[in-house]
Amino acid sequence: MRKLIDKLYVKQELEPDELKELLIAEENQRKGLLQEEQISEYLFEKARQVRHEHYGNKVFTRGLIELSNYCKNDCYYCGIRRSNTGVARYRLNKEDILNCCQSGYDLGFRTFVLQGGEDSHYNDNMMADIIYTIKSNFPDCAVTLSLGEKEYDSYLLYFHAGADRYLLRHETSNPQHYRKLHPEEMSLTHRKKCLEQLKEIGYQVGCGIMVGSPFQTVDNLVEDLLYIKEFQPHMVGIGPFIPHHETPFAAEKGGTAEQTLFLLGLSRLMLPKVLLPATTALGTINPKGRELGILAGANVVMPNLSPVSVRKDYELYDNKICTGDEAAECRQCLDLRMKSIDYEIVVERGDFIK
Ligand code: SAH
Repeated sequence: MRKLIDKLYVKQELEPDELKELLIAEENQRKGLLQEEQISEYLFEKARQVRHEHYGNKVFTRGLIELSNYCKNDCYYCGIRRSNTGVARYRLNKEDILNCCQSGYDLGFRTFVLQGGEDSHYNDNMMADIIYTIKSNFPDCAVTLSLGEKEYDSYLLYFHAGADRYLLRHETSNPQHYRKLHPEEMSLTHRKKCLEQLKEIGYQVGCGIMVGSPFQTVDNLVEDLLYIKEFQPHMVGIGPFIPHHETPFAAEKGGTAEQTLFLLGLSRLMLPKVLLPATTALGTINPKGRELGILAGANVVMPNLSPVSVRKDYELYDNKICTGDEAAECRQCLDLRMKSIDYEIVVERGDFIK
């Protein structure tokens, strides 16, 4: 297995059957079936080496602002899907959002991520105005959007208003698997088309997946890695699937931290310069998840900047961490966590390096 990891380190790619072999070895290791050396540790060592070449021990930070938990979509895994009547719905207005940015700026954030359900309350002009105002008030900051699937013209308008980056996880690159996670009205073809358009417009673009989502196979993960390699995103969002108690997947098993970390490591070797977050979901299933994510090759953390009053209502999955903490506490806590593993959160936009 070390040979395959060495090959990936040198060539930044592997054949599909080689990727599959690695993923199966990780699975066996996790089940205690692998007698030989720990392949994950070896992968993480290589991944750290690559991330150090490009980013040293810097960790970029993004302040996450959860705009709205209204959503027109009905993704089977997501806690804020439209069919979930148990959610107290909220939306932030422009003033709320700017207040979040101001407190984030004071704490050293230089990227704001506006994420939300697909909520048509924010029409294109409102969104453009919000983006434009953030960029005018905080000209040294980047704005990342994570607002789902939109028309080309909307993406273009937001870009012209000043948005820099867009996160849109593809969730799975296998159409049959996609169908099992989403209702009929959504399609993988459309999601991929959005990703292409975002890139063409000039955004720094992020795709990504949930690890251990229901029905996911090793072959699906191989396809995901190949798609990610081919698409060449600037960012990749990889976190474990965590069941939410009021969704059709309430009784499904969640993804593991081990497999998530393994995919982070593989992603770092395949895309050496990629911006790769150690996600909140990873921190939710393991108390040291974010530290372990950084040690597996990640270089970004995305603490929450949303007002504490709405935090628990943006519940994509169960037991989400940090819902009761003020932004300043989150920032301080992450500072300490990163220091404890000899990494350092920096006050920078943290753009993709060309
Ligand atoms: N509406 C936006 C933002 C979605 S939330 C969009 O469509 O892109 C951001 C991400 O959270 C999703 O892309 C999904 O990968 C993840 N997510 C949703 N439900 C989850 C769950 N139950 N467990 C783990 N991650 C989840």
